[in-house]
Amino acid sequence: MEFDTDSRLEGPIGKNSAEVLVKLGLETVGDLLRHYPRRYVDRGRLSDISGLVEGEHSTVVAEVTSADLRYMRNRRGQMLKVIIRDEKGSALGCTFFNPRKLLRFLRVGVVGVFAGKVGSFRGELQLTHPQFEEFDEGDALRPFLSIYPTTAKVASQAIARSVRLLLEQIDDPTDPLPEELRRREKLPELGQALRRIHVPESEADIHAARTRLVWDEALGVQLALALRRRDALARPAPACPRVDGGLLDAFDADLPFPLTEGQESVGEEIAADLAGEHPMNRLVQGDVGAGKTIVALRAMLQVVDSGKQAAMLAPTEVLAAQHARSLRSMLGALGRAGELGASDGATSITLLTGSMGVKAKRQALLDAQSGAAGIVVGTHALIQDTVGFADLGLVVVDEQHRFGVEQRDALRARGETAPHMLVMTATPIPRTVAMTVYGDLAVSELKGLPRGRSPVTTTVVPVAEHPSWIERVWQRIREEVERGHQCYVVCPRVGDTEKDDPELEEPPPEDGESDRRPPLAVLDIAPMITEKLAGLRVGILHGKLPPDEKDAVMRAFENGEYDVLVATTVIEVGVDVPNATGIVLLDADRFGLSQLHQLRGRVGRGSAPGLCLLVTEMPAATTARERLDAVASTTDGFELARLDLELRREGDVLGASQSGSRSGLKLLSLLRHGEVIAKSQVYARDLVDRDPDLRQHPRLRDLVGETLGDEERVAYLDKA
Ligand code: ADP
Ligand code: MG
Repeated sequence: MEFDTDSRLEGPIGKNSAEVLVKLGLETVGDLLRHYPRRYVDRGRLSDISGLVEGEHSTVVAEVTSADLRYMRNRRGQMLKVIIRDEKGSALGCTFFNPRKLLRFLRVGVVGVFAGKVGSFRGELQLTHPQFEEFDEGDALRPFLSIYPTTAKVASQAIARSVRLLLEQIDDPTDPLPEELRRREKLPELGQALRRIHVPESEADIHAARTRLVWDEALGVQLALALRRRDALARPAPACPRVDGGLLDAFDADLPFPLTEGQESVGEEIAADLAGEHPMNRLVQGDVGAGKTIVALRAMLQVVDSGKQAAMLAPTEVLAAQHARSLRSMLGALGRAGELGASDGATSITLLTGSMGVKAKRQALLDAQSGAAGIVVGTHALIQDTVGFADLGLVVVDEQHRFGVEQRDALRARGETAPHMLVMTATPIPRTVAMTVYGDLAVSELKGLPRGRSPVTTTVVPVAEHPSWIERVWQRIREEVERGHQCYVVCPRVGDTEKDDPELEEPPPEDGESDRRPPLAVLDIAPMITEKLAGLRVGILHGKLPPDEKDAVMRAFENGEYDVLVATTVIEVGVDVPNATGIVLLDADRFGLSQLHQLRGRVGRGSAPGLCLLVTEMPAATTARERLDAVASTTDGFELARLDLELRREGDVLGASQSGSRSGLKLLSLLRHGEVIAKSQVYARDLVDRDPDLRQHPRLRDLVGETLGDEERVAYLDKA
């Protein structure tokens, strides 16, 4: 039968089996073939029941000889006691708690694979809630059993049988990968890879098949990004070459400090991009405190010098307001167009946030539209949706970790010429992610910190083991304040409502933690902190304050009118108060790793050393504590980002549209496949340079469609 990914499964595997697979969303030949085994059981590594050792993880194949369902007395629920017997006749007990989903499968006479840690109960070895897979005669002849991802409704072996039936009936597909690439990378053909990943004969088979299929996915993604990149680069953009004697020159002449080497060199890259006639798409990655704002401001001034406008987008209102303030103060007379004391050719900075008063907002919108505002600063949602610009030349996106492909497209989609785009982030993006999520951007690394920065010491404060240490925390805050400095105390939640901060990226709970108390909330504990810090001036800041008040509190803290700011993660990114030296993170285990790094970056910004205290109730030797220890062990953002990636589910990183159920990314791992991703990027860019619409490579075009979901396909390929 000819291979056609889109044909329905009824034909090759029959109506009944097809109906079962629909429950897993598997409807077409392609769906089933790309439903790869989750793992394999190597029959050569099976244990005999007689040889089991307590404490070891073991896998046995055995037949169920009795299955006895009981109610648990003191615990609510049911328990299934199963006795299994292997080929040699040895018996073993297995206990399954609340086995409802398994009852259908675990019947007398059924043969299966049981895998788990060997424990003992009343002196007898047993397996407690082992993994179980049913297994049929055909399996006995194969060296590997393929175990499929599935739900309680469909047995893994039912999938395996359908896959084998399908593979027997279809011809090998046409291979999308050019032969020259396959040869160079020693990759098996697609048909062979698909057969081997489902029905392997050896570990080498599994490895080769996976590598090949990972290549398909990596190349699909990289081709899509290369096409997008070419598309973006091909559009016209306003050329903004440097203008002698303009605002940028005047600004540089008045800088109170020399630029760092990194600021110089990244600045040059950006200046050259802006001068070009195609849009810049550049990601500047520089650790917390590296001085990205000035890099952005200098880019904006170059654009304003060419008579265009620039927009700066921040993730929160607090940060947008702070940016507007600090840009104004950095520019001084150069940024006061229309005001008294402005310099010749001055520009003006307009703040635009959703919660501004109607009148102020209308004026800001007018200024953007008329071109009176040279620089507009606001939250990204707002600028994206509501603002018309007279002549937008550059968009700067600050600290938007998740400012994905779609949002960037939305901004580009306006008008004939696309504005230049500068994305700035302090969250170090591991190389593989940069190549994937941001694969259509050029990446600049802003290295080094401005001189005179002080180190930050990070300490984990485990209050479960040492309850008295919390008093020492408050004491340390007092000491910082006595030296004339300021401190932050950060809580995960605002409090006072059911719904938590949407900003909080709480890591998933570990096993057995589901009944943890809710994270500490600013509003709940502010009174306690105020009492502990009696005599100090304590301000409170969180996202639910009215905007004026938020602004006033932040400004008061900047001006040194508060000693301590008790806040939520509204201060996470960008907030820049050099006199703040201490930051205490309460319930630190509730923050994401990169969030912790960002928060820590709020201190050590001046000449005095910084102190970061991670307060947690989590006991030692939990993953939560390991994460905190990792943060304490290094201030290297890249190392932390790598750890973060290891601890997080990768779907989160690839983004919804690429990890959804319809997407073709099944095997690709940002962590494990860095090398393939890098190679496929080079290959994809080169190919797209030579064959811009992939006209000569129709199978690769299809691959792009298969790799990305349907929506993406529409967005990228139907355009071409
Ligand atoms: P981030 O990269 O985290 O956004 P900022 O742009 O907020 O960092 O800069 C942090 C601080 O460093 C600011 O107070 C800024 O004025 C200061 N700064 C920036 N560049 C330099 C420099 N070259 N020399 C000294 N201080 C600098
Ligand atoms: Mg910043």
